[in-house]
Amino acid sequence: MRVLITGAAGFLGSHLSDRFINEGHTVVGMDNLITGSMDNIAHLMGHERFSFVNQDVSNFIYVAGELDAVLHFASPASPNDYLEYPIPTMKVGSLGTHNTLGLAKVKGARYLFASTSEAYGDPLVNPQPETYWGNVNPNGPRSCYDEAKRFGEALVLAYHRAHGLETRIVRIFNTYGPRMRLNDGRVVPNFIAQALKGKPLTVYGDGSQTRSFQYYTDLVEGVYRLLFSAEDMPVNIGNPTEMSILDFAHAVVEITGSQSDIIFMNPKDGRFTDDPKVRRPDISKARRVLGWEPKIELADGLAQTVAYFRSRV
Ligand code: UDP
Repeated sequence: MRVLITGAAGFLGSHLSDRFINEGHTVVGMDNLITGSMDNIAHLMGHERFSFVNQDVSNFIYVAGELDAVLHFASPASPNDYLEYPIPTMKVGSLGTHNTLGLAKVKGARYLFASTSEAYGDPLVNPQPETYWGNVNPNGPRSCYDEAKRFGEALVLAYHRAHGLETRIVRIFNTYGPRMRLNDGRVVPNFIAQALKGKPLTVYGDGSQTRSFQYYTDLVEGVYRLLFSAEDMPVNIGNPTEMSILDFAHAVVEITGSQSDIIFMNPKDGRFTDDPKVRRPDISKARRVLGWEPKIELADGLAQTVAYFRSRV
């Protein structure tokens, strides 16, 4: 297959590029590098089945030759990044989705959209099944991401219904691993960097809010299976092991062998507005339609991630 991956220089896009290359496919990677980095794909440059285009998918895109699949993974993806790039975040989830859908339609390609657990907002149902419609603030500081992704889902299914496009939608829950940016502001890189530097770990609020962390290899496997499945409607891919952010801070301190303290922050800036209180995927559907479930324990995934960050701190 010849596959276009947008966001190819990002954390997930680069790992997906690796997977498709390793499976013998040809990958066209696209990224405008506002949050992605060429470091993530440097090892692929020069590969005969990989090419890279520095382009913003929110503008008209053109790719010569055949395409069998389009995977739209381009987007700023951390609350810090949405604060810095709210308009590009909205544009890539809406206009970028429109452009990549149009391209997939012209090429007769299958289309896979990277959606998010943020589609559920601050959920009133825990765990979240795909049938839950969510509890989303349409105009808060996170709304540029949440609503763009929700609009994206609607647009993808409009192309499916109106044009018969073969579409796949993955709702990605918190995912971590090597190639996350050390300074991207999300909890995993923040805590690991703080622990490795011997600085206090900054727990926002009282740390009772929960998340469920999945290692990137599990996500890549789920996305790969979804693309080759027959499921047009959204599928959650995440690890259902839920923990409080405070417990997660303790886990990071332990695994790094750090002397760091844990401190509680109550900042007033927009990053914590609408911070979901709980988040945990119901993965019954992924189990049923993809035969998928996560394999990597937090301790193992964290050890790999800490090793990666250790060489960079
Ligand atoms: N968080 C924290 N300290 C940090 C960064 C994040 O306590 O230094 C919390 C944040 O408030 C949220 C959770 O960790 O409750 C996960 O945040 P992240 O930014 O990783 O992603 P989210 O799941 O909110 O999209």
